Amino acid sequence: MSAPRRALRLPRQPGVSGWAAILPARAPCPALAGRQTADVAIIGAGFAGLSAARRLAQLDPALRIAVLEAGRVAEGAAGRNTGFMIDLPHDLASDDYAGSGDDRAQIALNRQAIGFAAEAVEELGLDAETFAPAGKINAAATEAGERANRGYSAHLGQLGEAHEMLDAAAMREITGTGFYRAGLFTPGAAMIQPARYIRGLADGLAARAGRVTLHEDSPVREIARAGDAWALQAGAGTLTAPRVILAVNGHAESFGFFARRLMHVFTYASMTRALTAEEAARLGGQARWGVTPADPMGTTVRRISGTGGDRIVVRSRFTFEPSMTVSDAQVARAGRLHDRRFAERFPMLAGVGMAHRWAGHLCLSRNGVPAFGEVEPGIVAACCQNGLGTVRGTLAGMAAAEATLGRETGRTRALAGAEAPARLPPEPVASIGANAYLRYKEWRAGRE
Ligand SMILES: Cc1cc2nc3c(=O)[nH]c(=O)nc-3n(C[C@H](O)[C@H](O)[C@H](O)COP(=O)(O)OP(=O)(O)OC[C@H]3O[C@@H](n4cnc5c(N)ncnc54)[C@H](O)[C@@H]3O)c2cc1C
Repeated sequence: MSAPRRALRLPRQPGVSGWAAILPARAPCPALAGRQTADVAIIGAGFAGLSAARRLAQLDPALRIAVLEAGRVAEGAAGRNTGFMIDLPHDLASDDYAGSGDDRAQIALNRQAIGFAAEAVEELGLDAETFAPAGKINAAATEAGERANRGYSAHLGQLGEAHEMLDAAAMREITGTGFYRAGLFTPGAAMIQPARYIRGLADGLAARAGRVTLHEDSPVREIARAGDAWALQAGAGTLTAPRVILAVNGHAESFGFFARRLMHVFTYASMTRALTAEEAARLGGQARWGVTPADPMGTTVRRISGTGGDRIVVRSRFTFEPSMTVSDAQVARAGRLHDRRFAERFPMLAGVGMAHRWAGHLCLSRNGVPAFGEVEPGIVAACCQNGLGTVRGTLAGMAAAEATLGRETGRTRALAGAEAPARLPPEPVASIGANAYLRYKEWRAGRE
């Protein structure tokens, strides 16, 4: 019998995500209390955990499913990201996102995940502010950025994927700024308001009262064998279930799974206060758009409108953090970079300050593979989304649900068939090396 696994670390969220802050207050689901049982227990209510719950309920509506979330729904990375659900290769370690594996297979899987999200949105009656199949733009601000876009375009051409090159005038028409000299539009991405999407998914599941139970403020501190089942100790309660889906992304390592094989990377974002009508008019362009940088180490920008008003979100900087958290000083330092990136792009908005700043935890593997599959009898991991968790987390959740019920699908074969995450060099070599590499790549990305 394996020894109990205790969580050595629990998630700590640096700063308040603007995406959640601009939404109306929401009453959390009750924390786990007393002794409870379920047919399947899911740890983590992000893209992976909630998608797993939804897929399980689809496959077997009679199942009793319980989801345990350490904090509040949409407080973690799932509600702190920039909301690009991308169908195409999105290799953050490359110079232009071009993938190096079987891109056609990955694209097909990514589209299954986006399709699953679109279906959920339709069924739950969520609106276009929450999920919009709007496509996205790789924006280029420099000659090097344009070169990267041309390289990516050639790669997409080889794959037979539709895309459109945009000139500086088209970019200004969309974004209102003359900062970008070119863009590469691809139609298959969906843009989400991440906190709104995750809340919608969670509340839709919680409405299946009696079948799906969601417990917030319920950090799992211990996973222990209890006969043929697993006992999860969380807060003031214990949940016992024969089958468990571990959907905690990098925190899989906190329980000792995939030890020294997961790279814990943080990225940082800031959101402006709401623009006045006069400022929005001065900016011009469309009311909603999103651009990823032509160089993966550059700056992502979104313009949003609707709930919370007209605002701009800036995301930039990656740091490698084996401690799985960052300090307020790091968030503030990244914030100063965001302010510079914002001022370069939006000189017409001088004086508009940031209302929210935050950071969030990504999990990558050195070889770009997920941490997926049965890690103990009855426990399936759906972790390590390699920076594209809106899509790969959804996919891993779907596949984990299928694997848990013994169903074999193209998704389970693809994820379970991937090689294991590669071992990392020892500390402090890994941290020093990774952070030096990230700073170099950020310097090289320059104004992008
Ligand atoms: C600023 C930023 C921008 C990003 N932009 C994008 C983007 O545009 N597109 C994209 O695809 N991805 C993006 N990402 C990455 C994306 O957010 C993640 O890859 C994704 O959230 C991973 O999904 P997940 O469900 O696997 O894990 P998470 O979303 O991290 O969910 C895991 C959940 O498990 C919970 N948990 C952990 N430990 C425990 C425990 N012991 N007990 C109970 N619960 C626990 C956590 O609280 C968390 O809610 C971005 C991330 C950040 C931070």
